[in-house]
Amino acid sequence: MSTQLQVVERCRVFLAEQQIAMGDAINIRHYTDWSNYKRIQPYAVLFPKNTEQVSQILSICNELKQAVVPQGGMTGVAGAGIANADEIVIALDKMHKIEEIDQYASTMTVQAGVTLEEVQNAARQAGLFFPVDVGGRGSCQIGGNIATNAGGLSVIRYGMMREHVLGIEVVLADGRVLNLMNKMIKNNAGYDLKQNFIGSEGTLGIVTRAVLKLSAPPSELSTCLCAFPDFLSAVHLLRRLQKNLTTPNAFEVMWDEYYQLSLSWMQNSSNPLTQSYPVYAIFDVEAPAESLENLLADMFETGEILDAVIAQNQAQAQQLWLIRETVPAEISSTGRPLCFDVSLPIGELGEFKEVCQARLDQHFPDLVSLFFGHIGDSNMHIILDLKHLPEDQLESVMTGIDEVVYGVVREFKGCISAEHGIGLLKRDYLHYSVDENTLNMMRQLKQLFDPNKILNPNKIFK
Ligand SMILES: Cc1cc2nc3c(=O)[nH]c(=O)nc-3n(C[C@H](O)[C@H](O)[C@H](O)COP(=O)(O)OP(=O)(O)OC[C@H]3O[C@@H](n4cnc5c(N)ncnc54)[C@H](O)[C@@H]3O)c2cc1C
Repeated sequence: MSTQLQVVERCRVFLAEQQIAMGDAINIRHYTDWSNYKRIQPYAVLFPKNTEQVSQILSICNELKQAVVPQGGMTGVAGAGIANADEIVIALDKMHKIEEIDQYASTMTVQAGVTLEEVQNAARQAGLFFPVDVGGRGSCQIGGNIATNAGGLSVIRYGMMREHVLGIEVVLADGRVLNLMNKMIKNNAGYDLKQNFIGSEGTLGIVTRAVLKLSAPPSELSTCLCAFPDFLSAVHLLRRLQKNLTTPNAFEVMWDEYYQLSLSWMQNSSNPLTQSYPVYAIFDVEAPAESLENLLADMFETGEILDAVIAQNQAQAQQLWLIRETVPAEISSTGRPLCFDVSLPIGELGEFKEVCQARLDQHFPDLVSLFFGHIGDSNMHIILDLKHLPEDQLESVMTGIDEVVYGVVREFKGCISAEHGIGLLKRDYLHYSVDENTLNMMRQLKQLFDPNKILNPNKIFK
């Protein structure tokens, strides 16, 4: 009997029939994540209902040295949740209980399979706010958000997932359960082990429960679209907002190619500004419209802002945000996107864009590369639409583009992944951003937590 079948047979003792899927009974959503990097039917998918079952499954897998891959909502974009045909998936879908909202501590305790949107809604109903927000909110799970240290639009104001996790419960590769379910803001009792699991992409342990920190809801936001003569003027506006008003809840920058393409794809939409400009920013800020108008007028006079529009109502605000959201959504749904997620010190992002764009144009003159992103967090996204490429050229072109982009990131001493993680897609380039000693320490950490290398093997590094 194969090792995989032995695992499944031993799990049948404590898992019900509907908690095990094999062969064609496996839903195709377990074959790949949003990267669509590879589509593979795993050997089996197991659906534990509680921490004890996760622990039992892992202790069997560890004993038999069977590789397992944790899966959440499969909205990841780094290929980190994709399992091989001889691997067993542990899907957290059936662990989706919101256990408690503590109004005094301002915390929510949840099982790992609760979706981000369910957490946001429950917080809102309790008069509170969970600030982490990503496009995949309806499907991605809190366990996946923790395992990827998710970012998103509001990081500039509220921080990444790490900032909102007070405690976790995690099952180690050998089945031991670490209870790190802290609710306190202050806790200096030795090493803060939970931090090792946040952003570890399921390679060190499986997150089964979490204590999330909730915030006070923001008051009314002003949404504004501005145009600039150059990138650094956009950065200057951000710093002026922070100094004179407050840190915006989101601050997104787009270059003109991106802006024009977005407008052309938005139905019934004309340019809200009077003409085209080199660089644009769209932002939400919790500030009175009059103070915002005064600040913009100052920068208008110095020529740092060339044009601006402030949304007068919710519908207009949504329409402005569509300019930022349309391109990635459209390319993802109709084509083959290649999306990068890099970070550099904010002041260097404008020069990075020029160098990177020039190199891409030189090596791939038929492809359009679009630059945009969470610039307030020093995070640049680059997206290319590869749908017109013949299938047999796809892999070599993708590798060529990776080498160009990550090569420029390396020259600028930036990071190859700002928020999406390493997974499979960026594994070969991790050493561009992480030195040898640090990489070796990461390997030693993996060895400590998972000596048999059963947990999501070959992700992040080989
Ligand atoms: C439209 C869209 C927009 C997005 N925008 C953003 C964005 O702005 N910022 C951003 O950061 N991300 C973004 N993402 C990516 C994605 O939503 C996040 O990476 C999300 O946190 C992944 O959660 P998931 O549950 O889908 O995880 P999965 O994709 O299922 O898994 C991701 C990784 O986490 C591991 N994992 C999953 N659950 C657990 C668990 N319980 N314990 C241990 N490991 C686990 C998996 O093994 C894998 O390594 C976007 C995705 C989409 C589709």
